[in-house]
Amino acid sequence: MKCSVCGARAQVEVRRRNQAFCAEHYREWFVGEVRRNIRRHRMIRDGDRLLVAVSGGKDSLVLWDTLERLGYAATGFHIQLGIGDYSRRALQTTRAFAAKRGLELLVVDVRESFGLSVPQLAHATGRAACSGCGLVKRYLMNRVAEEEGFSVVATGHNLDDEAATLLGNVTHWQTDALVRQGPMLEARAGLARRVKPLYSLAEREVAAYAFLAGIAYQHEECPHAVGAKSLLYKDVLGRLETRMPGTKQVFLEQYLKKIQPVFKEGLPGAEVELRRCERCGSVTTSRVCAHCKLWERAYSRARKLGLLPEDARFDPRPRLRKIVPDDNPDHSKE
Ligand code: SF4
Ligand code: ZN
Ligand code: ZN
Repeated sequence: MKCSVCGARAQVEVRRRNQAFCAEHYREWFVGEVRRNIRRHRMIRDGDRLLVAVSGGKDSLVLWDTLERLGYAATGFHIQLGIGDYSRRALQTTRAFAAKRGLELLVVDVRESFGLSVPQLAHATGRAACSGCGLVKRYLMNRVAEEEGFSVVATGHNLDDEAATLLGNVTHWQTDALVRQGPMLEARAGLARRVKPLYSLAEREVAAYAFLAGIAYQHEECPHAVGAKSLLYKDVLGRLETRMPGTKQVFLEQYLKKIQPVFKEGLPGAEVELRRCERCGSVTTSRVCAHCKLWERAYSRARKLGLLPEDARFDPRPRLRKIVPDDNPDHSKE
């Protein structure tokens, strides 16, 4: 197999495109795809301040890398979930990446901020770890972006993630989610614009880029991911892709192009009114936001379970640590 650009021996095949590349031209192609996505959807505009959510896994670190290569200054944002060694290694990997490249990183530790780690929160609420975790991550991303003055939040969702989410939403006809799903969600009162510059790149393409660009990322998955429905949807789509290369791309892109506009037209009431949470002041659709409700419920159970002292009260203000790329180890602020 030869590189489609220079004819040298190819290292990566992109079957869905019927193309193959040598290492150099693969990296070039990949970064070009990210640039094209950003421009096509006007994800980043003049004067924007960019926050990139980094877990330490390949998708988020590849995203940070490509944004830098494209000349966008992006601050990283890492959330310490408190999931044992997995979380400790995630932070180490993220810090090492930021330090090596001289990038600014913001960190919020869930337990330090709110009193319980993600597994303790799950224990206290009796809900699966992922449901509380997802809510906390969304909340922190929005809140930190607003408080620190970032106009855009970029996440590393890839084609496999987006196609699996679409399949899940279609399977259950989640019309609200179907209307919102997409590579770019415009800013709304107090909520930063959300963008997914890798949305058209398959997971194996992102992994190939990480390998060829020498990015040291965390390979292990979160222990709570085992049995997640998203993995089942990915498996189903993966089988279709093997038999019919390009399936995931067509499924997602044609949905966004042909079906979503029809959905948006047909659901005029889909745009909900936003207001401020009475407890924490964050943007929400109800009087008290889902994050405050979740933690207040968790606190009452956690006190009974002895996870928290009797007089513990939930404080919704996250403690943000700023790790700047100079010789000072940490710059902390509340
Ligand atoms: Fe959080 Fe679940 Fe993802 Fe683990 S798998 S990081 S618990 S959402
Ligand atoms: Zn080449
Ligand atoms: Zn709130």
